[in-house]
Amino acid sequence: MGFGRINSSLGPIREVHQQVDLWLSKILENLRERIPCKEGCAYCCNQLVTLSVPEALYVVSDILKSNRGKIWINSNFHRLLRQIEFIRSLPTDLKLEDYQRKWYEAAIPCIFLNHFKRCIVYAKRPAVCRSYFVLGDANLCAGSVDTKIEHLQTAPVIALLAQSSQRVADEFRVPNMLLPLPVAVHMAFIAYKDGLGELRNAFRRARLVKIPVKE
Ligand code: SF4
Repeated sequence: MGFGRINSSLGPIREVHQQVDLWLSKILENLRERIPCKEGCAYCCNQLVTLSVPEALYVVSDILKSNRGKIWINSNFHRLLRQIEFIRSLPTDLKLEDYQRKWYEAAIPCIFLNHFKRCIVYAKRPAVCRSYFVLGDANLCAGSVDTKIEHLQTAPVIALLAQSSQRVADEFRVPNMLLPLPVAVHMAFIAYKDGLGELRNAFRRARLVKIPVKE
């Protein structure tokens, strides 16, 4: 299955992103004044984002379509591998909070955050990123991950995404699990470059850091 066929199976992810945007447009109407999030403020992009491989396939699909995107991959692939090495250096039995703390303390920005603090996959950014909004004082975002910041509750998003991701994972015959973003993105590149058979092999070979899904 090549790029076109993988891409054409990602409709459920595209639909859930559209549903998330619709859901947000309704509930944010009443919260606008309490939300300080704005372009160029990217503290949250230093957190450990988790997503499934089906969603990662959707997130990176535009990058692979353009020459500019391919140049970006060539110059950033070493960063992606370094991030994966960092994740693999962590014990596999930590709690999600501990992974997040260690990642944040290492000050590792998301691979997709550019020098201008803009997301290069913004139109197709993961659902957790689409729905992450702080309510209150944005200055608190600069603190540690232990700082208690009120933010939008996204349980409906996670439930929607889990279902649509499962449909794609079943079709591709791969596990539907949340992985750290660099690992999921690397898996997506493998699938687009070498096919789904190689993706399945990568799942078998990898010592994956499995992130528990938060209820
Ligand atoms: S994917 Fe984009 S919005 Fe999400 S953490 Fe990375 S840079 Fe930030």
